[in-house]
Amino acid sequence: MSLRAFLSRRVVTPEGVRPGAVLVDGARIRDVVSAEQVPADRAIRDFGDLAILPGLVDSHVHMNDPGRTDWEGFQTATRAAAAGGYTLLVDMPLNCLPGTNTASALEAKRVAARDRCWVDWMAWGGVVADNQEHIESLPAAGVAGFKCFLVHPGVDGFTMVTEKQLRTALPHVVRTGLPLLVHAELQGPIDEATAGLPEGTWDAYRTYMESRPDEAELAAIRLLLSLCREYKFRLHIVHLATADALPMLRAARGEGLPVSVETCPHYLHLTAEKIADGATLFKCAPPIRCGENREKLWAGLREGTIDLVATDHSPCPPAMKRMEEGDFRSAWGGIASLSVALPVMYTEASARGCGLIDIARWMGEGPANLAGCRRKGRLAAGYDADFCVCDTERGFVVNEERLHFRHRISPYLGERLRGVVKATYLRGEMVYADGQFCGKAIGVEYAHD
Ligand SMILES: [Zn+2]
Repeated sequence: MSLRAFLSRRVVTPEGVRPGAVLVDGARIRDVVSAEQVPADRAIRDFGDLAILPGLVDSHVHMNDPGRTDWEGFQTATRAAAAGGYTLLVDMPLNCLPGTNTASALEAKRVAARDRCWVDWMAWGGVVADNQEHIESLPAAGVAGFKCFLVHPGVDGFTMVTEKQLRTALPHVVRTGLPLLVHAELQGPIDEATAGLPEGTWDAYRTYMESRPDEAELAAIRLLLSLCREYKFRLHIVHLATADALPMLRAARGEGLPVSVETCPHYLHLTAEKIADGATLFKCAPPIRCGENREKLWAGLREGTIDLVATDHSPCPPAMKRMEEGDFRSAWGGIASLSVALPVMYTEASARGCGLIDIARWMGEGPANLAGCRRKGRLAAGYDADFCVCDTERGFVVNEERLHFRHRISPYLGERLRGVVKATYLRGEMVYADGQFCGKAIGVEYAHD
């Protein structure tokens, strides 16, 4: 394939947003140059005022494939991703069956993914109660790192770990050098808080929120930081919801502990005050907290204590959301958001004086670094020619047509957001443009060079 140039007045590079051209040679970026430096007689696509961002990377997705494809699946999740400006998804090891806790389970996932992906993918491996002997063989099989739960994950096929089991696993994790992503909530404070709640009030959002108190997260993070100090493993806290943890995370980083942190668009956009009773579409764990907490999370993100933003896209069949009963106790906890995460973030970020360069760092480079992908998440020479073309000036109302994942339910339906994904390119090929998917599903498992 010959050299092509993609022009825009707003090319989002790690150094800044500037007019220029992304020169693409086959599947890779040759360079990012000024428009004048584009060699004559090259095929040119000029996007004008539309921004060209790096293809986004989502390091926290539940595709549920194989095994629970009635919840989601590679095909629908990756379509939603392409429509949302993402070019790489890293799949969590649970909700699929089998859980990705062994090399053979990862092989089953590869079979399920074949020829069905609209964007590239990778997998995290599980650290569960009884797979310690598999941990060190998983990196060679292809996982990007590991995920564990300190609390019951709410689904069969994947077990939580106790502190004792985690201590058995950690020396293995350390030897791999890969990160361990942890769902940081402890059962003790949850049980204690739940015991004190009035019966018969589980239709109230407040009841759900109080059943999973800040202290459940805080106690888990305290434990993890002390284990990190002891074992020196690469710790990553997934979906941080309580801003009360920021001081200890800031101190941990100051101390030089190898810890990184993510939060999600729903914690940065939604607030407990606005969640109606019975509105179980908003249920996720840890829960969405109050507006004041949201602003503190934004401060943590801006100062860099929170490294990145991942969706925790976690869909389920609509019936499992128990929307008719409005019962927060039995409803599935998970929010589906892949195709609208960028506009959600752009809407909030631009209202706070942040811009595309921040978004590219939080939703491109940060997650790519976590997953060890050296060819994704940046518009720079040698990287995959993955990009997302975004009309940041246009607003829209989220409707079912824009969701693209299997079950078109989401707490964002009806919201007015800013930033429309106009096109997505994967390794130099247009895979999505103006509401349509183009060509074939060319997404593959990311392979290190
Ligand atoms: Zn998750």
